[in-house]
Order: sequence, then C-alpha cells, then structure tokens
Amino acid sequence: MYSSETKITVARKPHICTSCGERIDTGDRYARWNSAEDGKWFTSKMHPECYHMHLKDAEGGRFEYTLYGHERPTTTLSLDRSPEDSHTA
Ligand SMILES: [Zn+2]
Repeated sequence: MYSSETKITVARKPHICTSCGERIDTGDRYARWNSAEDGKWFTSKMHPECYHMHLKDAEGGRFEYTLYGHERPTTTLSLDRSPEDSHTA
C-alpha cells in the first residue's frame, strides 16, 4: 500500500473523521493523507488526537486502521508539540 506524507491542515469545510466517524468542524486542524489500495485512492482525514492514537501504535510511522471503527480519544493533544517531546515528561 502506498501512502503520501501526512499533512496537518485546517478544515475549510466540515469533514468526517475516518477513524472515529465524528465531525471535523470548519477551522479545526486535522491530519490528512492519501493512500492507494487496489488501484484506488483514498483520503484519510483524522482528528489530531485520533491520528496520534494510531501513530503511537505505528511501527516506522505506518499503521492500518478500520474505517470509522475507532473511538475518539478523550485526551486532547497539541500538534505544536513534536512526538519527541512526549517522552521527556
Ligand atoms: Zn476522530
């Protein structure tokens, strides 16, 4: 499976998080990337906290997830903090 680089972007219209199925509101930041599977392009869009939840479990930065099949984490993570900072706490 091919995946593009993940971009953190601001929603210019509402989206549905492909991890938890909840709404991403206009003006919210979210993570998006494209992946190709079976010759079809699919765009993943996730809340920052949903994205970080998957990234935490990822080996080498790659992970697979079930579309709309995950709970939205209750903790709010700041994207201004790099992942490297999190294990200095
Ligand atoms: Zn989500």
